[in-house]
Amino acid sequence: MIVTDLHMHSTFSLDGSNTVAELCEQALSLGLTQIAVTDHVEWPPNSVHQRPDFDRYFADVRTCQARYSPRGLTLFSGLELGNPQDHHAEVDALLAEYAFDVVIGSMHWLDGQNIHYTHCFDGHDPYDVYTRYFGEIEQIAATVSCSIIAHFDRIFWPGASRFGTPQITRIEAPVRRALQAIVAHDKILELNTRFLTHTPGWNDALLTVLGWYRAEGGRFVAANSDAHRVAEIGRHRDLAEGLIMAAGCTPYVR
Ligand SMILES: [Zn+2]
Ligand SMILES: [Zn+2]
Repeated sequence: MIVTDLHMHSTFSLDGSNTVAELCEQALSLGLTQIAVTDHVEWPPNSVHQRPDFDRYFADVRTCQARYSPRGLTLFSGLELGNPQDHHAEVDALLAEYAFDVVIGSMHWLDGQNIHYTHCFDGHDPYDVYTRYFGEIEQIAATVSCSIIAHFDRIFWPGASRFGTPQITRIEAPVRRALQAIVAHDKILELNTRFLTHTPGWNDALLTVLGWYRAEGGRFVAANSDAHRVAEIGRHRDLAEGLIMAAGCTPYVR
């Protein structure tokens, strides 16, 4: 059973619902032994920069580390950088200012559009959008000082809602280039458990990508819930473990 979850959000994120302590309590109740609380740092197009008050964040993390370590839970500090490939100087300054245990690099925006929503496909062939997305993932892996590449399938979340499960082999070349960059730069691929079983054939498509990752020399995959509330911690970790093992990979433990 997977007992690690290195991607979740607390109330230090605008969209997080629970405190760091509440996340720790839930993780313990589920038998997890290591978690990272990785709140959002974002540079939204046409909006103001978002980041937690990291002095307060680290004070909470230190308090919880002291409280939960004796109970068998290792709590790591961390953050999730949205589109860090477009903000190198600010990322480097932030990572120099604070010592994070887990640094996640993510794609949240493509061509100025929030890729949480299906309108990022308006006027485009979905496979062109997928190709551009994986080109940006390749840039994050190659140029940003992060340790985990989050939700590699995120562009498929709105894409599948609008167009059905992607025919993954149609974008094998750009996906493999992104995976090659992840391996070459010693990053860990995340399997985000949030959308597992999203559409028919979904898990098979993800298994194909994990198989390519293995073929490119990747070995460790972080099964992460990306929970924004306590009830989402640990979801589908059994399914995630099955996919990771079926691909010949190993669940990542820090
Ligand atoms: Zn994210
Ligand atoms: Zn997240």
